[in-house]
Amino acid sequence: MSAAQELFQAEIEALQAQYSDTIELRTQEGSLEVSFEVRPELSSEGSQNFVQLRLTLKLPSGYPDEPPSVIVTHSKGLAKQRLDTLQARLKEESVQLQGDPMLGQLYEAAKATLTELNAPEGTCVLCLESLDAPADTREPVLLPCYHCYHWPCFKSWWRWEQRDRRARHSQLLTDLGANAAAELAKQSLIPNADGAFTVGCPICREGFDAAAWPLNVRAV
Ligand SMILES: [Zn+2]
Ligand SMILES: [Zn+2]
Repeated sequence: MSAAQELFQAEIEALQAQYSDTIELRTQEGSLEVSFEVRPELSSEGSQNFVQLRLTLKLPSGYPDEPPSVIVTHSKGLAKQRLDTLQARLKEESVQLQGDPMLGQLYEAAKATLTELNAPEGTCVLCLESLDAPADTREPVLLPCYHCYHWPCFKSWWRWEQRDRRARHSQLLTDLGANAAAELAKQSLIPNADGAFTVGCPICREGFDAAAWPLNVRAV
């Protein structure tokens, strides 16, 4: 093994030890790809994770003299502009570190950028107002799909959805009596143990079960 290969081997082993919970290695068309799940550093107990992504570093045969290609996928909570900022930063970092082992540093740079960007962005589709207006005291609420709303807007919407489902549920029971079960299942109108119905995110329709949801929307 050449000195360069040994250095590379050592870098990969050190990464696997340090990032064992987040790293994944695979060989794609003869080149090694190193992937990480990247999440922001949370500053305090109870602070939320508004963004996340998967960072893949595709290593050319000339690595580290030639920097890896940076591929960002499965990003959540990041619109194009913030993704571009991240890509540009990682690119710059990889050029600066050229010639030295840099995979761990690139992961740390991505994590630091996400920590900095860890806030909701865009508008709340329920009221069409900005989610990050400085004077706005409304708390944001984050769904498991990473779509974000103002908590008061979400609460009103959720209550409305629950009332609507409860009314449809009673109507079907009245109309169909003992035969209602199949139709209720078909329309996803089965309440959980607390009497809450599963609803979908207003943007992506991904269903979330109130009982399993850490923010406990059952209490609203
Ligand atoms: Zn709103
Ligand atoms: Zn969603």
